[in-house]
Amino acid sequence: MTCRDSSMNEAPVVTVPELDMPTKRCAECGQSKPLDSFYLNRHAPDGKTRCCKDCSRRLARQWQEANPGRVRENVRRWRAANPERVREVRQRYLTLHRQEVRARNAAWQAAHPEETRERGRRSYRAHPERQRAASRKWQADHPERAREYKRRWVAKRRAARDGQ
Ligand SMILES: [Zn+2]
Repeated sequence: MTCRDSSMNEAPVVTVPELDMPTKRCAECGQSKPLDSFYLNRHAPDGKTRCCKDCSRRLARQWQEANPGRVRENVRRWRAANPERVREVRQRYLTLHRQEVRARNAAWQAAHPEETRERGRRSYRAHPERQRAASRKWQADHPERAREYKRRWVAKRRAARDGQ
């Protein structure tokens, strides 16, 4: 049972004279609270949820903890149905947290060098032209470092060849 269950909505709206403010008794904790302590529920007769926001939040958390599979499934289904929104949300997040995301990615890559190389190879195989274009752009933007990388790469190749 959750607070969205409007059929259980029997708690009357009463006015407490000394507060002169419409209140409602929470069906969960039994406390009389001002109406703005209840979430909106347009299906309920009084337009409010059965229990107060504190109880609603607690019940929602308990439900999620008791039903981890259902939560994951709901999220998965919502994402599948709203790919545009998912992209939007992700894009907004990346824009707002660019530094954090970069730092986190760099930390992950430093901790997983082999997987990082494998991901790079896979990404290159999946979009070779995109990767080549990105690489050309990077080289154009960082000519000094590009020359240095190339010099090192040639030296490494030479050393490997001479070592054989
Ligand atoms: Zn309550």
